[in-house]
Amino acid sequence: MIVTRFAPSPTGYLHLGHAFAAITAHDAAKAAANGRFLLRIEDLDSGRCRPEYEAAIYEDLGWLGLSWETPVLCQSSRAGAYREALARLEAMGLTYPCFCTRKDIAEEIARSIEAPHLTALGPEGFLYPGTCRALPEDARRKRMAREPYALRLDVAKAVALAGPLSFEEHGAGPNGERGIIPCDPTLFGDIVLARKQMPAAYHLAVVVDDAFQGVSLVTRGNDLFSATHVQRLLQALLGLPVPAYAHHRLVLDEQGKKFSKRDGAVTLRHLRETGVAPESIRRRLGL
Ligand code: GLU
Repeated sequence: MIVTRFAPSPTGYLHLGHAFAAITAHDAAKAAANGRFLLRIEDLDSGRCRPEYEAAIYEDLGWLGLSWETPVLCQSSRAGAYREALARLEAMGLTYPCFCTRKDIAEEIARSIEAPHLTALGPEGFLYPGTCRALPEDARRKRMAREPYALRLDVAKAVALAGPLSFEEHGAGPNGERGIIPCDPTLFGDIVLARKQMPAAYHLAVVVDDAFQGVSLVTRGNDLFSATHVQRLLQALLGLPVPAYAHHRLVLDEQGKKFSKRDGAVTLRHLRETGVAPESIRRRLGL
């Protein structure tokens, strides 16, 4: 059985890019016999998520003519599941506390610019230089007692443990990648798994919830293609079932740029309020 999901964060109004992602996930489920389409609210960033945006997600997707299973899973209700997953990774010796602020990391990177072998570039900029990975155990304990910290994955250790990994691509990556894709989970360096105010960071929450909800086909934009490499590693470490992936093209604005939540004119809300017919949206998106 095919189970797909659309997993927006309620940090703004949905725009045409979201409509494309939601319709793609919905249609992939509906095209299959007994396919199921789920909606998941990714509301872990309490500083940026707003209840009115969550309400708008239901309204706007309904306006598009989509239907999904209820109750809808909200990540804010899943702290216990994330803690369990973190505890497993900790027990495997694969995590370490990181006390660095953004400023510390920027300074460390600036210092190591003179030693370019120490500064690697990832899909989201420079990788974490690993400052806290090497802290001696007693310093670690002392600082944990009095400083806030994030938990990071020791990705080299994790990769050594997991061995070679791959995933099944049913859509296409940004460079047309499809079929069996060998993973490079080191792309993002030592990723953050959880922070003081956040029981799980994006990658961890997504794999735990995709498994919990029985998602069998993850459809999402090809801007998340590299994220799949590291998420596949977390699935292997946590012994989770592995979905297939269908990354899709991104909908771009007239300047050829990705839509942003700040682009008022292309929000579904604005289109609806200015009398655009929901049936015309699929056409406009080339669906
Ligand atoms: N919540 C993520 C976003 O809004 C999507 C997560 C995913 O599809 O894996 O970009």
